[in-house]
Amino acid sequence: MAFYLNKVINLVQEAQAAKSNTQNLADKVAKWLTFVAITIGIATFAYWYGTGGEMAFALERMVTVMVTACPHALGVAIPLVVAISTTLSATNGLLIRNRTAFEMTRKLTTVIFDKTGTLTEGSHEVKRVVTLAAYTDDEIIQYAAAVEQHSEHHIAKGMLRLLKERELPLWESDNFQYLQGVGVRGSVNSKDIIVAGPNHFKTNNLEIPVTPPEVDQDTETINYVLIGGQTAGIITLEDRIREGSQETIRRLNEMAIKSFLLTGDNEKIAAAVSTKLGMSGFLANVLPHNKQEKVRGYQAKGEVVAMTGDGVNDAPALAQADVGIAVGSGTDVAAETADIILVDSDPRDVVKLIDFGKRTYRKMIQNLAWAIGYNIVAIPLAAGILYPHFILSPAIGAILMSASTMIVAFNATLLKLPEK
Ligand code: ADP
Ligand code: MG
Repeated sequence: MAFYLNKVINLVQEAQAAKSNTQNLADKVAKWLTFVAITIGIATFAYWYGTGGEMAFALERMVTVMVTACPHALGVAIPLVVAISTTLSATNGLLIRNRTAFEMTRKLTTVIFDKTGTLTEGSHEVKRVVTLAAYTDDEIIQYAAAVEQHSEHHIAKGMLRLLKERELPLWESDNFQYLQGVGVRGSVNSKDIIVAGPNHFKTNNLEIPVTPPEVDQDTETINYVLIGGQTAGIITLEDRIREGSQETIRRLNEMAIKSFLLTGDNEKIAAAVSTKLGMSGFLANVLPHNKQEKVRGYQAKGEVVAMTGDGVNDAPALAQADVGIAVGSGTDVAAETADIILVDSDPRDVVKLIDFGKRTYRKMIQNLAWAIGYNIVAIPLAAGILYPHFILSPAIGAILMSASTMIVAFNATLLKLPEK
């Protein structure tokens, strides 16, 4: 827990140190306003004194202009919203590491989701073990588990759980190799073992073994266990769609934001999940570097793209996307590459994030508009534009200045997260 908190604190500090585009704009406008206030102040003095006014009157006008304008609401208009927005999001499960990306969320047109661990729980319970050679069920599991003990993948964890349930001994293995987006490889009992999905056969130009008829390809992820190059068995695993996935896609559809499923898993499952959730489309059997290319492809078509993922294999795509969103329960690599982390691993938080991005932006614009509007009205009055009908005293100018700053600060505190 302490470790987690430390991480959060660091992330928030980093985010606050790095200023977003809107903050930079506000800083520029604020500097510019100081300059304008001083210039108008001097010009006011020159005007009143130059047109035969009294020295005291001309000086008073100049002071009033400067007091009315500085220090100004503009200086706090944006930073306050940023500070409140960062705190609010962090306490509500949205860790914003990159504020520029966060400000992009309101412009998103496409959200890409990884399947396993993102839209699904990544629970991966073993559903079926099929032997295709002279090995028993238990042996197939033992060979697979021996290699998978070195993998972090959900599939690996599922197989090891089964090994435990059946109270089988865990064999040793060495020469572990992760075949990206394909599977894993290692030596067990001096035999070469590969545990992999259909991509293994595709990348090696081999024919994919016939799927046993009892396997439901719409829901079961098929893994082949190869012993010494021969397909010796099949282990299928079943994953569950996360509770909030359906609602997430429905809300995105309502917002006219396209959603695509991108997965290393097979076509059948990808199609089943994407159709069930009502997504705009899907891409299956995607290798890690292809995920990044796909994101770039959408960007080239002019889409503003968010990528949501949890795995090591998602990291390049997370970096490529305009907004990289990592699921909190995922790998550290994904979290460290992403712009935003969903601490609760709830896909609905993607919608919350977009909504909150819009609200934060609206608050910034309201505050900017208010602060600029105030100055446009107050400075000329202070300069004595309505003299002799109306004249602003330096004291009233000071009160107005404080009031305008307070209004901006108060408006910032009205920022709220959307209800779930
Ligand atoms: P996703 O994009 O859905 O998160 P991955 O790219 O992590 O999926 O995995 C894609 C496919 O690669 C899996 O469906 C599986 O067939 C295979 N695979 C990846 N890692 C492993 C592993 N540790 N053991 C077995 N198969 C694996
Ligand atoms: Mg994944």
